[in-house]
Amino acid sequence: MTTKENLKLQIDWFNYFADYIKQYNINLYNEACANADDVERQILENEFIEFPEVEEVKNCYECGEDIEPDERFCSKECYNNSFNERI
Ligand SMILES: [Zn+2]
Repeated sequence: MTTKENLKLQIDWFNYFADYIKQYNINLYNEACANADDVERQILENEFIEFPEVEEVKNCYECGEDIEPDERFCSKECYNNSFNERI
């Protein structure tokens, strides 16, 4: 049996399983649907987080040099120059 045929059998089986629960306990069926949606969403979110994050590039407000994300200027000189220009 091919993988595709196997998967078809599995899906059919789960559909018969779900149809039975839907027929005899609609609230349990609805809860199971909501749970499956939650699990699926969590899996997708987890995979998304594993993508490499875009590195934030920040530059000195005065001269444009690359700086650390939590800084505004590359040096005391640039800080002073920026301050002098503002007054
Ligand atoms: Zn600078």
